[in-house]
Amino acid sequence: MGQAKRRKEAGERVSWCRTCTYCCTLPRIVALDKPMYRPCRHIANQGCGLFGQPERPAACVAYNCAYLSARMANAPERGAIPHPLDAGAYFHRDPVEKAYVLFVDPDRPGAWKRSAVVDHLRARMAEGFALVVLDRGRRMVVSSPSLFEEILKRDYVAFADAEGRPLDEPSFAEWRAQARP
Ligand code: SF4
Ligand code: SF4
Repeated sequence: MGQAKRRKEAGERVSWCRTCTYCCTLPRIVALDKPMYRPCRHIANQGCGLFGQPERPAACVAYNCAYLSARMANAPERGAIPHPLDAGAYFHRDPVEKAYVLFVDPDRPGAWKRSAVVDHLRARMAEGFALVVLDRGRRMVVSSPSLFEEILKRDYVAFADAEGRPLDEPSFAEWRAQARP
């Protein structure tokens, strides 16, 4: 949903979003009747095929992940938030709750734990923010800094899978069933 896709439509090289389409693939988008993990049907050439058209949902027009927001605002933390493609995840601050929401690329589930995303989120949790992690069909509410450190050490998704717990996001089963190169 990134605004930098505007540049692609204008025939320019995408600078900030690059080839990322995480926010058009990983979340549920009610206005498009799109479940989690299914790529939006309007993705075109790694950009938005509806860009500039009235059918483009307002939620898409308004959305920027934390990485893109920091760059567009030239915010002080812009150098501290890695590009989602480098981190294997993207996140944003929930506009209503005092929480951050992290979407993890299911093809690279451990990458964000080795990235600068950790330091950034750790600092936000120290400020009193909670964190919601959406990872491989699981939704985890991380309510304290100590729980965050536990999440970093252990693969709770693998643990839940091994225990046979039902997915929190059933649409992940469709993603898992797909053959990938
Ligand atoms: S409509 Fe465009 S911006 Fe919105 S999810 Fe689909 S491809 Fe992304
Ligand atoms: S997750 Fe961020 S970088 Fe990736 S397409 Fe969306 S706004 Fe752009």
